[in-house]
Amino acid sequence: MASIKDVDTSSLLYEFSRQFPTGVSTFACCPVCSASARGGNFCRDCIAAELRRRGATDISIDLAKQGLIAKQQASLSYESAVEEIRRQIAEQEAA
Ligand SMILES: [Zn+2]
Repeated sequence: MASIKDVDTSSLLYEFSRQFPTGVSTFACCPVCSASARGGNFCRDCIAAELRRRGATDISIDLAKQGLIAKQQASLSYESAVEEIRRQIAEQEAA
């Protein structure tokens, strides 16, 4: 794998978002720090550190993180609503 310093910013930002999965994902060691990271790619902390090194502020990185966490929570809410709808319909069909 390329050094994190050689990865272009767009790819880093894309990979950062992928580190906040909304579904089932596989994890392996980050090649930089060995923390758990989705797909064995760079972990969110190493990506954030590299973005910071390139000039991004902590505030911007935190806002991005919060947005991604909100997306994960929205996805969970959606999935539990869908589960409830399925349960209600199955109950209705069984009646
Ligand atoms: Zn890492």
